[in-house]
This record gives sequence, C-alpha cells and structure tokens, in this order.
Amino acid sequence: MNVIILGSGGCVSTPRACCNCRVCTEARQKGFPYARTGCSLFIEDVNLLIRQKISMLH
Ligand SMILES: [Zn+2]
Repeated sequence: MNVIILGSGGCVSTPRACCNCRVCTEARQKGFPYARTGCSLFIEDVNLLIRQKISMLH
C-alpha cells in the first residue's frame, strides 16, 4: 500500500485566509516550508484522498 502524506501542518493551513499575523505574512512571502497545508494523505491503491475539513474556529 502506497500512502502519500500531502500535509502535516497544524489543524489549519498556514497562512490562514485573511490573517495578517507575523507567521502568516512570512508564509505568504517565503512559501514552502513556511506555508503548510493541514493534515491530509492520499492512498494510491484505492485513489482515496483523506483530509480534514477546514476549521471555522478563527
Ligand atoms: Zn496568522
């Protein structure tokens, strides 16, 4: 079974939409590895994408 980890960041993606904090600003300017997606993975054998839903807590 081949599993590809697509995102291993926190519970939300960085940068967050509409956020202008120092971390999000730096992530927008520098890209990878400062910009990260939330946790997700792809299982090749069954073409299955598993990802968390977007948090609406902020
Ligand atoms: Zn931010």
